[in-house]
Order: sequence, then structure tokens, then C-alpha cells
Amino acid sequence: MRERWETVIGLEVHAELSTASKIFCGCSTAFGGEPNTRCCPVCMGLPGTLPVLNEKVLEYAVRAGLALHCEIDRETRFDRKNYFYPDLPKAYQISQLYRPIARNGYVDIVADGAEKRIRIHEMHMEEDAGKLVHSEFERVTYPDYNRAGTPLLEIVSEPDFRSSAEVLAYLEKIRSLFTYMGISDCKMQEGSMRADVNLSVRPMGETAYGVRTETKNINSLRAIEHAIESERSRQIHVITNGGKVIQETRRWNDDLKTSVPMRSKENAPDYRYFPEPDLPAIHISEAFLQAARESLPEFAEERQARFVKEYGLPENDAARLVARRETAELFEAVVAQGAGAHSAANWLVVHVPHVLKTLSESAEDAHPDASELAELIRRTERGEISRPDALKVLGALLSAETPFGVADYIRENGMAVENDESALEDAVRRVIAANPKAVEEYRSGKTKAIGFLIGQAMKELKGKSAPATVHERMEAALREPPSVTA
Ligand SMILES: [Zn+2]
Repeated sequence: MRERWETVIGLEVHAELSTASKIFCGCSTAFGGEPNTRCCPVCMGLPGTLPVLNEKVLEYAVRAGLALHCEIDRETRFDRKNYFYPDLPKAYQISQLYRPIARNGYVDIVADGAEKRIRIHEMHMEEDAGKLVHSEFERVTYPDYNRAGTPLLEIVSEPDFRSSAEVLAYLEKIRSLFTYMGISDCKMQEGSMRADVNLSVRPMGETAYGVRTETKNINSLRAIEHAIESERSRQIHVITNGGKVIQETRRWNDDLKTSVPMRSKENAPDYRYFPEPDLPAIHISEAFLQAARESLPEFAEERQARFVKEYGLPENDAARLVARRETAELFEAVVAQGAGAHSAANWLVVHVPHVLKTLSESAEDAHPDASELAELIRRTERGEISRPDALKVLGALLSAETPFGVADYIRENGMAVENDESALEDAVRRVIAANPKAVEEYRSGKTKAIGFLIGQAMKELKGKSAPATVHERMEAALREPPSVTA
């Protein structure tokens, strides 16, 4: 059946910058902390204070703009966005409207197997507001200004998305670009990356846009997917029942998997924007811009291509290795420590995620030591430890509070493969005697039969011999002429 409705989505993404201090004062930006311990007269908006721009914020913003293929405004300025809310002590937010730092960029994504370019309308710098902490028990609300003045970049896309898959691919891409540059950790669960979804629907083939709503308060990729599907269905339902979609802001409730109206959508004039009088216009010199260009790292796609070329990895493995900068770096460090590239890739894309899942820990928190991981991979490759034992060591390595030596751990836990020569010879001999059919097959040229015989021998040895050694002995034994006496 032909899809009758087209979904049109534009995104506003907020990314918290990981500078040590806030955008206009010296307060710490660290996450959490006792309420109101990370603020000062400037970020609390007390009269008589003046903001001073943190140069690091400008530097990060320029790098972000370049990574998003934007034009950088060399004469950028701040503006006041006026609104009252208790988490905003100044009753205005310092943001950018008239001369945002970056405009007219794009991001290329791949979604549902197709490449697509998402245009970026503009990207600007602004300060975050504080937080309201609601105490159900005391039935009161406390403002906490620790977050007030945390530097943010807001990236406004054109309405170029047509599905939630495209939205997710775009968010992943921004996360990848920003984490590779080290300018934001983009953790949705901690609110350091947030997305507001502007969505409308229109009959397939229609070129005019429908009335859009904005859904806020979405704090995970999964929630974004749900919110998009939910709002799309709601709007189609309203229209097909003869109603009209109202332009409004809606709040997503992830527990109920539904959104509720928050307020009718404001337009820019409602905020009475005007140029911020307390901050001068910023002139960006050619030297500053050039330094930003030169500071851009090797991003995921370039790194993926290099991994394929330099290490001969399959495209798929390379793509999974570069998805997170830390994994890509760990891979190169492990290879530099002497592990084979293919084994290292296999461990990092298969074993490590698998073991992490059993530990219910996330890959973001696991930082195994590269040289110990390399040691483990090398020993496994050489058959000095069985695979099940190797995975146990990996589990210990990934969950260890304090680092430990893999070599010691293997010895202390009796995991070293013994390679008992006489037991090995015995096992090979017994297996050959007990499986005349497989032996016959092997000797008649069906060499694959050796796999079965090795398996039987490994079983007899209970994994206490290295597979490579068993293979070697089995092959040698099979090459000997068949014994005349049986
Ligand atoms: Zn402050």
C-alpha cells in the first residue's frame, strides 16, 4: 500500500560544550554537585555584574561550525532573548539571533541504506538556564543555578528529515563529530545533548508544509524515535478526523509514551530579542580561523577508510571500530602493542561489547588498558589460554576497579594451557584409533576431516592443550603410515 502521508521534520539540537568553566564567568561546568555551589553573581544574574566571553567557547564553536561545513561569521554578536522563568535569574538568556557564529552548513548521513544531505540553517552559541528541582515530599520547588551559564551550541537544521531513521543517523553523526573533536561528550542521558523535534505531516506529493509542532524534553535516542512516531500518528489522526493541527510546543512524557501540550508556540518577536549591550561584537581573525581548521581531527569516516587500507580490515569492522573515538584509539593502541589487527578488531567489535553486556556496563565507561588487552589477545592467538578462559579474563579486565596484569591473573587462576606432552600424544593416538572412518577420509584426500579429529582430541584434553599444537600433532600422526597391527 502506498504511504499517504509524508512526515517533515526539522531538528534543534543543543550540545553542552565540555569547557572547564562557564560561558561568561569562571564557575565550574562539572555535572551535578550540591545545588547552588557552582554559581556566582554573574551566572546568577545579580545587578551590576558583567559577562566576559570564555575564549574556549568561541574556539569550540568555530571548530563545530567548520565540522558542520558552515560559513563562519567573522563579525558575530550576542543577543538577548527575553523571557521570565524561575530557572533564568536574569529574566533573559544571552543567545544569538541576528549574527549567529555559523550558517548554511550540512551533514551527510546514511539512513535506510541511502545517503542523504541534511542542511544546517544556522548554529549559535548561548548560555544554559538553571534547573528547577521539584520536591514531592515538601511540596515545594527549589531553583538550582549550577547549570546556569553552561555553554551551549544550538544547531538548527532545515526541515530535511522524512523519517526517524534519518533523525537518529543525524544525531549519531553530530555526536561522532563533536566527540571526535572533544568539544562535547553528547550524553543524552545526562542532558549534554538534547533535541527538540519540529514535525508536521502533509499528503504525499504536496509541496507546502503543514502546521508543525515542537516536541521538547526528549532525552534518549529511543525516546526520539517514539516521540516522532507518536506525534506523526497524532497529527494524521487530527487531520483525517476533520480537525486542524495547532502550532504549539508539546512536552514528551517518556513513561507514558505520549506528549501533552505545554504552551502555544512562540515566534521570535515574542522574545523581544535585541543586541546584547554588555558584550562587544566579536571579530574572528584569519589566524584564529586557520588555527581552528588545523585543529580538526581525523574524523570517523576518514579513519574508517584508513583502517581498511592500512590494516586490511573489512569495511564493516572498520565502521564499528570508528563509531566511538575511544574504541578507534584503543584498537590502534592494542595493535601498536603487538596484537594482530584482525584479532584486535574482532575482540573490540565482538568480544568486548558481548562481555560488557553480560556485565551490564556500557562501552562508554569501560577503559581497559591497551597493553594488558594486547597481552590477552596475543596469548589467545598463540593458544596459551583457551577461549572461554580468555573471555573470563576479559570480563575481569573490563570490570576491574584497579588495573591488574593479565599474565599474573592467568597464572594465579590456573588458566595457562598446560601442553602436557604425553597426555597430548595419548589423546591423539586414542582418537585416531577410535575414529577409523574419519582417518580414512582424511587419508583419501578429504582433509577437512581433521577438524572433527582435533575436536575429539580437544575434548579428551579438556581444553588443556593449545588448538594449534593439537592440530600440529594430529597432522603429524595422520601422515604416519597406517599401522599394520590394529
Ligand atoms: Zn558563575
